[in-house]
Amino acid sequence: MQNHDHIRNYTPKADCLKDKIILVTGAGDGIGKVATYTYAKLGATVLMLGKTQEKLEVIYDDIESMGLATPAILPMDLEKATFAQMNELANLIQKEFGRLDGVLHNAGILGALTPLEMYDPITFEQVMRVNSTSVFMLTQALFSLLMSSPSGSVVFTSSGVAKVRPFWGAYALSKQMIEGMCTIFTEETKNHTTLRFNCINPGATRTNMRVHAFPGENPQTLKTPEEIMSPYVYLMTDEAVGVKGQVIACQPK
Ligand code: NAP
Repeated sequence: MQNHDHIRNYTPKADCLKDKIILVTGAGDGIGKVATYTYAKLGATVLMLGKTQEKLEVIYDDIESMGLATPAILPMDLEKATFAQMNELANLIQKEFGRLDGVLHNAGILGALTPLEMYDPITFEQVMRVNSTSVFMLTQALFSLLMSSPSGSVVFTSSGVAKVRPFWGAYALSKQMIEGMCTIFTEETKNHTTLRFNCINPGATRTNMRVHAFPGENPQTLKTPEEIMSPYVYLMTDEAVGVKGQVIACQPK
C-alpha cells in the first residue's frame, strides 16, 4: 500500500487550479459544496452539478460576488437522469468550454442502515443508481471530453464501509463498486492515456449525511469538510499527473 501522507499534507499554491474546468457532483451541500468553493478559490471554473437548483444558485451568486471565475449550474437528478441526458450535458460542456479537466464524483445518498435480509429493494436500487451506476454513466458520457484535457482527472468518492460493513446495505455495496470501477478504469486506460482515476475516502466528516448515519454523535468532534480538502485539491492539480488507481483516505485510522 502506498503512503499518502504527502497528499493529506499537501499545501496548494494560490493559483494551482487556474484555468482548469472541473465538474463537481453534489455541489450544493456538504463536502461537494466545500470542494466547489475550494476549487473556485484556487482558480478553477467549477461546473456545479446537483439535484436542488436553489442551493447551486446561492453558491453561484457567492462565487460571482467574490470575483472568481464564473461557475456553471448543471441541475441534474442522478437517480433519474438518462444516459441521453448525460450525453447532452457532455455536448453542452464541449460547446461552452471546449474541454473538461476534472470530475469530482461526490454526490451520494445513505439509504437504509438495515440487514440485507430486510433491505427495501426500491431503496437498494436508488442508492446503487445515485452512488454507483450514475457515476459509471456520467464518466462514460464525459470520457472523450476528459481525454481532450492534457491532464484529465476523475475522482471518485469511496468510504470506509467499502470494505463491506454489515448493516450498511446498498451504501456499502455501492462504495465497493466505486473502488472496483476505479481499478477497472485505471487498468483499462493506464497504458494509452494520461487520464487518471482515483478514489477519495473522506472519513467521518461533519455533514448532513454523517448526522443521519450517526444521530447520537456530537458533530463537533468531527473534521469539517474544509479540513479534509488537501487530497481533493491535489488530485486535480498537475502535480498528480501519473497518480492512478489510488484510494486516498483523508483520515486514516
Ligand atoms: P451530504 O451532505 O448529504 O451531501 C450529498 C450531496 O449529494 C448533496 O449536495 C446532494 O444534493 C447530492 N445528491 C444526493 N442525491 C442526489 C441526486 N439524486 N442527484 C444529484 N445530487 C444528489 O453528504 P456528504 O457527507 O457531503 O457526502 C459526500 C460524499 O462523501 C458522498 O459520496 C458520501 O457517500 C461520501 N462520504 C461521506 C462521509 C461523511 O462522513 N460525511 C464519509 C464517507 C464518505 P441535494 O442537497 O440537492 O440533495
